[in-house]
Amino acid sequence: MLRKLAIATALSLLAAPAIAASDYEVPFAAHHVIANIYFVGTKGQANYLITTPAGNILVNSGLETTVPMTKESIAKLGFKYGDTKILLISHAHFDHDAGSALVVKETGAKYDVMDSDVAVVESGGKNDFNYGDKGGENLYPAVKVDRVLHDGDTVSLGGTVLTAHKTPGHTKGCTTWTMKVKDGGKTLDVVIVGSPNVNPGYVLVGNKKYPGIAQDYEKTFQVLKSLPVDVFLGAHGAYYGMDAKYPKMTAGGANVFIDPAGYKAYIANREAAFRKELAKQQAGAKL
Ligand SMILES: [Zn+2]
Repeated sequence: MLRKLAIATALSLLAAPAIAASDYEVPFAAHHVIANIYFVGTKGQANYLITTPAGNILVNSGLETTVPMTKESIAKLGFKYGDTKILLISHAHFDHDAGSALVVKETGAKYDVMDSDVAVVESGGKNDFNYGDKGGENLYPAVKVDRVLHDGDTVSLGGTVLTAHKTPGHTKGCTTWTMKVKDGGKTLDVVIVGSPNVNPGYVLVGNKKYPGIAQDYEKTFQVLKSLPVDVFLGAHGAYYGMDAKYPKMTAGGANVFIDPAGYKAYIANREAAFRKELAKQQAGAKL
């Protein structure tokens, strides 16, 4: 029965990696991922601390309400929240950037954001093509961006270099981060997937606020399929099955976050979902 449940859970994860919003504020154990990368997010939302001798980089600020959890996670791992020098995001949606104003205020970190997400961040979500007029949790404190990133730009601190790959569609400036790490004498490619997902209600055909959305998703899947990946991470733990992998990590043995096959399967699954939704909307548009 348990095994059946485990299989069903694994299958449902593969079929529809839906992120339960209720999990955003559920704490999750802070943990070491690989090399100088640490998970400091929650059950439903992934923040990463990348430590360097010159201070640290935080990828994703999470919700305003989860910033204290991030602080606690950083402290538990033995690092200082105040050492956060650079703040990056996966994309300009509240679950990844609503806490940014607070993090910037408390740490003085520089906020580096992909060009096409800057207007959204600086308007506190009001400029988002899909959620800007929906209010509620989609809106958050606006914050000024310190550095506007462009596709292929790098962010460097204390010997660590992250590359910003523009993977638009989910948001106009959705960003997939890559970096190289050394592990056991090998150099490994790490990816933090920005989001390849078509959210419920997204208009792919005839979208007046985002006319190029379908072409952008096409480009994104080309980029994601071309990246060399050993270590598979993403904007939500559900992308890479964090819940299932983390307990195996603590049990010792091989690093379970090294999962090139899992990455390929995830991207293929998400591309199929995009194509299915696009075909559905195109058929609907012809009626
Ligand atoms: Zn999102």
